[in-house]
Amino acid sequence: MIIDTHSHLFDEAFTGDVKDCIKRAKDVNVNKIILVGFSKETNELAISYSKEDSIFYPTAGLHPSEASLNYQDDLKYLEDFICKNKVYAIGECGLDYHWVSDNKEVQKALFKGQLDLALKYNLPVIVHMRDATLDTYEVMKPYSGKIRGVMHCYSGSLEMAKEFIKLGFYISLGGPVTFKNAKESKRVASSIPLDKLLVETDCPYLAPTPYRGSRNESSYVVRVVEEIACLRNMSVSDISNITTQNAINLFNLED
Ligand SMILES: [Zn+2]
Repeated sequence: MIIDTHSHLFDEAFTGDVKDCIKRAKDVNVNKIILVGFSKETNELAISYSKEDSIFYPTAGLHPSEASLNYQDDLKYLEDFICKNKVYAIGECGLDYHWVSDNKEVQKALFKGQLDLALKYNLPVIVHMRDATLDTYEVMKPYSGKIRGVMHCYSGSLEMAKEFIKLGFYISLGGPVTFKNAKESKRVASSIPLDKLLVETDCPYLAPTPYRGSRNESSYVVRVVEEIACLRNMSVSDISNITTQNAINLFNLED
C-alpha cells in the first residue's frame, strides 16, 4: 500500500473526475489519501468528500494565505470546527512569504495559534513553508518534542530537514524530488532517516516527471516512491511499506 499524505482532490481541477482519480489511485495500490483543508470552504469540502469515500482522511487548517487581522476569530472558528468534525491533523498551516510578506506578524500568529490547537487536541500538524524557513523554525521551536507533524512538500536543505526532524517532525517529499535539477531534494531523499520520511502529491499542483506541468493526482505518488527507491538503492515495495507505516503512525490511521 501507498498513502498520499497530501492531496486536494476537492479542487475544481478534478470536477467530474474524482471517482476516476480514486479508481486510478486504487489501481496502483494507493489506498489511503489525506485530504488537506486549508480554508473555511476547503475544510468543509474535506469533511464532505471523506463521508463519500473511505479512502479519504480529512484535515482542517488555515493556510497562511488566509491570514488577516481577524486571526483570533478564525482560530476560534477552527477550534469549533475540529471539535465538531473528526479530523486527522491540523493544517495545512504555516508561513508563506513568496506572494505576500508584509503581514509576517499576522501569519505567525495564525500559525502559532494552530500549533496551540495541535497541542491542546493532540493532533499532528501539516506545515506549509515557502520562502520562510527560519521564521517557520523559530515559531515551531518552543513546541519541540510536544507536538508532532510533517513538513509538507519539503524543498529546503538537508541541514534544515535534520533540524525539523529534531523538533519531532517528519519530512514529506512530493513531485519535485523527481525533477532532474532538484539536487537538494534528492540529497534530502537519500539521506534523511527512513523512519521520518513521507510521500505526497499536493495534487493538483506539482506533478512529478513525466507529468510535470500537467494536473497532478494521487496515483502519481507512485513516481515519488519510485524516485526515492532509486536514490536509496532500495526496492519500491520497501519504500512503500516504510512510508505507509510512517503515515499510519503519524496520523493515527486505522489499518
Ligand atoms: Zn497543499
